[in-house]
Amino acid sequence: MGKFSQFTKLTDEHVLPERIRKMKVRNCSQVFSSTVATAMKVRAMVSNELTPSSQFYVNPKASDTADLLLFFDILFDSVNGSLSNPPPGKNLRGPLTRKSKHLCTWQNALNILPTMYFKSPSDTKTLISPSIKNWTFTIKGLICIWEKLNKAGFTSLSTRAFNQDPLENFFSCIRSQGGQNSNPTCSLFISYFKSLIVNNLVSPHSIGSNCEEDQSVGVLDPLRSFITDDLPSDGTEEVQNVPLPVFPQDPVSPTSCDTDTDDLATPYVAGFILHKIFLKLECSACRNLMMTEDDLFRNKLIKLRQFSNCRLKHPSTQFSKALERITNLVFKVLPLYISSFNLKQKIFDYISGVDLTHIFCTEHRDTLKKTFLDICINVLIYHYVRRINRILNGKDLRHKDIDILTQKAFQKYSRKLHKRK
Ligand SMILES: [Zn+2]
Repeated sequence: MGKFSQFTKLTDEHVLPERIRKMKVRNCSQVFSSTVATAMKVRAMVSNELTPSSQFYVNPKASDTADLLLFFDILFDSVNGSLSNPPPGKNLRGPLTRKSKHLCTWQNALNILPTMYFKSPSDTKTLISPSIKNWTFTIKGLICIWEKLNKAGFTSLSTRAFNQDPLENFFSCIRSQGGQNSNPTCSLFISYFKSLIVNNLVSPHSIGSNCEEDQSVGVLDPLRSFITDDLPSDGTEEVQNVPLPVFPQDPVSPTSCDTDTDDLATPYVAGFILHKIFLKLECSACRNLMMTEDDLFRNKLIKLRQFSNCRLKHPSTQFSKALERITNLVFKVLPLYISSFNLKQKIFDYISGVDLTHIFCTEHRDTLKKTFLDICINVLIYHYVRRINRILNGKDLRHKDIDILTQKAFQKYSRKLHKRK
């Protein structure tokens, strides 16, 4: 497997039954997402050519599961539209208008939802879960509201506005005013509400709750700055110049362990980096070296995620290989350099010796190499730090034994866990 994951958002809390947090809507919606659906679909496709004993095998029937995930992803988006400029391929995240595809998506869903039910293999009885029935109610309700608003002259409707989170947040603030009394009477409610208005310093968002932050700004928000004004300095003087471990500048052999089916995530990341590079420079000679028109198997994931109006870039094999090599190098030195000052420059110096002449044209060889390495380092540091953070808070322990730093992070997490018990 490559260094990147195709399931970027998933952690142990999404997968391991004993760790799934049932009240977290976000975790659920991250599973029912197009990212997971396409990654699963491509794995299922790959598995058609693998034996079941292979490490990368998933049952090809997973393709159907992927279709279900995608169906709910679209449905979630359609009732969650608020962005005036939705990202490419996510038009349903925009508001409902006469031209948008919300209504036909809902009509389609109203046909599909009633056909869904649970059935145990040992029993003939079928069970329709309340969520499925309530989806139908929600959709019909939204259609009804839209028809009424439309008649009244409204041209668009933000479906995301229909949620009870602001109300829940408000009540949680009121309750927090009452101390132990979490069930105030009417008159107490009024006095709590008044004091809440006066000192609106309670976080409007209860941490760990099931609601997301609403966009409300506290009534007397500026008051906060009086209290929290003495900001600490930015802490730069604390950073000392840590002596670096000597690292051999060995010419690392390109790891060519992968057959095409192993690593579909690296080409995907490569496509993202290509996009960033082309923002800075357009050169057809470079383009020919870095991109490909061929239908490469390793670019399958990119192809599946291609929406009609978004042009994901298809990296050439040599470009993906170059990224893979850089990734290996950077991940090797990151745990050693991570706490040192000027981290980015240090990594840059370390990998600047890598030969990348074959992916850029002669004219742009030097400038583009710098750009390329710069973007790579940004992406990789982000990726690495996120991985460490996920180990520290116990969200994702898959990578706990990869290097000394991940091991240390895991030890720290274990100690914390031990103390809690
Ligand atoms: Zn060029």
